[in-house]
Parts: sequence; structure tokens; C-alpha cells
Amino acid sequence: MDAFTQEMQELLLKERDELLSKLNSEGDDFRSEAFASSGRGDSSDLASDEGAYRKMEALNAMDAKKLKAIEGALKRIGDGKYGYCLQCGKKIPEGRLRAIPEAVLCVDCKSANEKLSGGI
Ligand SMILES: [Zn+2]
Repeated sequence: MDAFTQEMQELLLKERDELLSKLNSEGDDFRSEAFASSGRGDSSDLASDEGAYRKMEALNAMDAKKLKAIEGALKRIGDGKYGYCLQCGKKIPEGRLRAIPEAVLCVDCKSANEKLSGGI
């Protein structure tokens, strides 16, 4: 493994740990909050709780997606394929990987995919 890949692996592992603890603590916060607010029967509080829940759900979905991408990148490091585009096989520039360590597509393939899937 070269020095750059090793650097990216460390970054990815750190980011994975942070995401995992964030996902865990958010779940705990929500559970204790939901428990504390149950039984009050205040409708305005209920509405804001629901809004917070929706926001948290969206955030978790984003984090979960990122976590999956990070795990995919770590697997590619293990396979010795890290830094090469998943789609066209070209080398992904180091600058792009430094900005997004979990990137598995080069910019060309990524933007082509975005056009196809409508931004996802
Ligand atoms: Zn590509």
C-alpha cells in the first residue's frame, strides 16, 4: 500500500468512527427525548417533536449512506483497487480523493451518473 492510500485509509477509518458514534448518540438522544415528552399531551410540542424526528431521520439516512460509501472505499483499499474509478477504471485524481476520501467514481463518471439518475 502506498503512503497516499494509507493516509486515505486512516482518514476513512476516523470518519467511520465519528459517524458510528454520531449515529449511536443521536439514537440515544432521541429515545430519551421521546420518553421524556410522552404523556404531556401538548399538541404544539407534539408537532415540533415530529419535525425534529423527520429532520433526524433525513440526517441519519444521509449519514448511513455516507457510512456505506466509506465502508465500500475501505473494502476497495483491502482489495487494492482504491483510487481507481469503479466505472471506467481510470485513476481518480488525488485532489478529489483528499476532498472526498470515499469517492469511488471519477468526476466524469460521477457527473454522468448524476445526469442519468437525476441527481442521486
Ligand atoms: Zn470513471
